[in-house]
Amino acid sequence: MSEARILIVDDDVALLEALPDAIALRMNGVAIDTCETAPAALVRIQETDYDVIVSDIKLPGMDGLELLNEIKLLRPGTPTVLITGHGERDLAVQALRGGAYDFVQKPIDRDYFVASLDRAIQVRGLDRHVAQQRVELERHARVLQHVDRGVFLIDDEGVIRYWNPAARSITGLEADDLVGRRADEALPGWDAIGPEVPVASVPGPGSTEAKTLPLDIEGRELWISISGVQFEDGIVYAFRNLTAERALDELKGEFVATVSHELRTPLAAIYGAAQTLRRADVQLGDENRERLLEVIATESERLSRIAGEILLASNLDSGRFSVERQQLDVEELVSEVVDEMRTLFASRHDIVIDLVANGVLSPVAGDGDKLRQVLINLLDNAIKYSPDGGRIEVRVEPHGNCVRFAIADEGLGIPHGEQQRIFGKFYRLDPRLSRGVGGTGLGLYICRELVRRMEGRLSVTSTEGRGSTFVVDLPAAVHEPSRDAPVSETAGRS
Ligand code: ADP
Repeated sequence: MSEARILIVDDDVALLEALPDAIALRMNGVAIDTCETAPAALVRIQETDYDVIVSDIKLPGMDGLELLNEIKLLRPGTPTVLITGHGERDLAVQALRGGAYDFVQKPIDRDYFVASLDRAIQVRGLDRHVAQQRVELERHARVLQHVDRGVFLIDDEGVIRYWNPAARSITGLEADDLVGRRADEALPGWDAIGPEVPVASVPGPGSTEAKTLPLDIEGRELWISISGVQFEDGIVYAFRNLTAERALDELKGEFVATVSHELRTPLAAIYGAAQTLRRADVQLGDENRERLLEVIATESERLSRIAGEILLASNLDSGRFSVERQQLDVEELVSEVVDEMRTLFASRHDIVIDLVANGVLSPVAGDGDKLRQVLINLLDNAIKYSPDGGRIEVRVEPHGNCVRFAIADEGLGIPHGEQQRIFGKFYRLDPRLSRGVGGTGLGLYICRELVRRMEGRLSVTSTEGRGSTFVVDLPAAVHEPSRDAPVSETAGRS
C-alpha cells in the first residue's frame, strides 16, 4: 500500500511542530503536511486527496467546524479528526454531528490519537477500495453491454439476473421481459436446452466446447452456439447466433443431394445406353443403335450443362467474371431464342410458345451471349415448371428507359413467400422432386447475377397454381427508336 497522507491544521505552532514527530514515531509509512489556517488548508485539500485530516476546532478566521463543512463539500469521503480544548465537550459533540470522524481532547493522549488516525486511515483505505471495485464493476458491466456475444446470468434459483444487449439483438427478447423471471418460464425452450448446455467450472479457453442448440422463439428457430461458466451463485452463459451458418450448411447439404441426383440420372442413362451398345449377344437394329447414341449425346450435354452452371456460379461469386457491353438488336435475339426453344422442346406438344413484340424497340446495351443465356434459362424453367402444358408468352416491349422482356407461363406458379428465395443459390422449391423435375437450383441465381451485371433487373410475379411471369428490364442503349415499325408475331407450334 502507498503511504498514507495526513494533513494537520492548527494555529498552535508548537503543537504543529511536535505532533508530526509524535505520529512519525508511532506510525509507519505516513506523510504529514501541516497548515496554520483553514483557508491555507482548503487550498491543500483541493490539491491533495488526504487519507485523514486533523484540525483544531478553534482556528482564527474560519473555525474548525466551518472547515469541517467545507471539507465535507470538497472531499466527502475524507475522515476528519477534530482537536478540542479541555472542557469543550459540547463543541466536540457538535463536530461529530457535523460529520467529524472522531475528536481528541487537549492535552492530547498520543496513543489514543494515533489509534484514531490509524482507524481513520484504514476506513479511508477500505472506502477507496470499494470505490475502485465499483468502478471496475461498472467497467465490466459496460464491457458486457458492448460485447457481440449474447451474455446472460441465471442464478442458483433459476432466475435470470442479467441479459446483455447482444442477447437482446440476437434473440429479439427484451431484458425487461426476462430479468427477474425464471429462465424456464421466460426463455422459450430453455427447460429443454438448458440442461444440454455445457458448463465449465472455471472460465478460460478450451475449458468447454460450446454446443449448437435451437431456441424456438415465436415459431422462429434460432440456432445458437452456447456454453456456460459456473459462477459463485449462478451460471454465466455466452452465446452467438449460428442460424445463418446453419442455414448455409443445410443448403450445402441440399445442394450435394440435388447435384448428386442431377449427375446420377444422366450418368445412369449414359451407362445403360453404353452397356447395351456393347453387348455382343443383342442384335440392335440401326434405329435402336441411333436412339441409344442419341441418349448418350443428350445426357452428356445435360451433364456438361450442370458442370457449366456450377462453374459459372462459382465464377460469379469470386468476381472472376466480366460482361461485355454491346448494342443488341432485341427482336432478332429474342426470336432466335424462341425458335431454338421451340425446336428443343418440339416433343412437348402440350406447350405453345408465343412471341409478342410491342411498340418501338431500342437496342439494349448488354452482352448478347449472356442475355441469350438468361432468356433460355427462363424459358426452360417456364416449360419445365408447366408439367400440364399451357401457353408460354415471351413479350418484348419498351418500358421507360429500358426494354422489358417478360416470360409468362401457366404452370405451377410460386407461393408468395418463396418468390424472393428462388433467386438464392441452390434454392429449389421442390428439392424432393415430387413433380419429378430436376435442376441444380442455380439457374435463377445465375440469371439474376447476369442481369445485374448488365445493369438490369430480374423480378417475378406469380400466383401459385396459376403460373408465373419473370421480367427482365435492361437499359436501352439509345433512346431513339432503332427500327421503324413495331412487330408482333404470334406463332404456335405443332
Ligand atoms: P432449378 O430450375 O435448377 O431448380 P432455378 O434457380 O432455375 O433452379 O429455379 C429455382 C426454383 O424456382 C425451381 O426449383 C422452381 O421451384 C422455381 N421456379 C423457377 N422458375 C419457375 C417457374 N417458371 N414456375 C414455377 N416455379 C419456378
